[in-house]
Order: sequence, then C-alpha cells, then structure tokens
Amino acid sequence: MNAAILVATLAGGKETRGVKRFVNETYISAMNQNWHLGCFLCAACGKPFPGGRFVEYHDKPYDLKCFWGLQLRKHGS
Ligand SMILES: [Zn+2]
Repeated sequence: MNAAILVATLAGGKETRGVKRFVNETYISAMNQNWHLGCFLCAACGKPFPGGRFVEYHDKPYDLKCFWGLQLRKHGS
C-alpha cells in the first residue's frame, strides 16, 4: 500500500506582529485520514515510512519491517 501525499495550504496559522502568514503543510492521505507529515509514523518503531510504503494492521500503520516482525512474533517460534 502506498500513502498518497497531498499538500494543503492552510489559511491562518500563527499570527506574528499582525502579519498573517500562510502555512504550507504537507499531509499524507492514508487510511481515510489526513496525517501531518510528522505524525504519520510506524506504530511500532515511530519512524517515517521509506517511500511512503506502509502496511495497515489493526487500524495502525506499520512499516514493512515492523509488520513482518509482528507477524513472526504472533505466530511464535
Ligand atoms: Zn517500524
């Protein structure tokens, strides 16, 4: 599964000395949700996904390495 990356420009953001800034933020659209780029991390190791490749498992995203690690652990020795 690949995460689609979408860039959204949000009006508002922080207002500093009366200057309204526009914030460019990159979101990742995955699992029917939009995730902050810095928030879409492997549920096991907390690292971002190389190339946006991840596996959805029990409503959480995992990278392939951790996903297979979980599978091996689950099925035991
Ligand atoms: Zn991981």
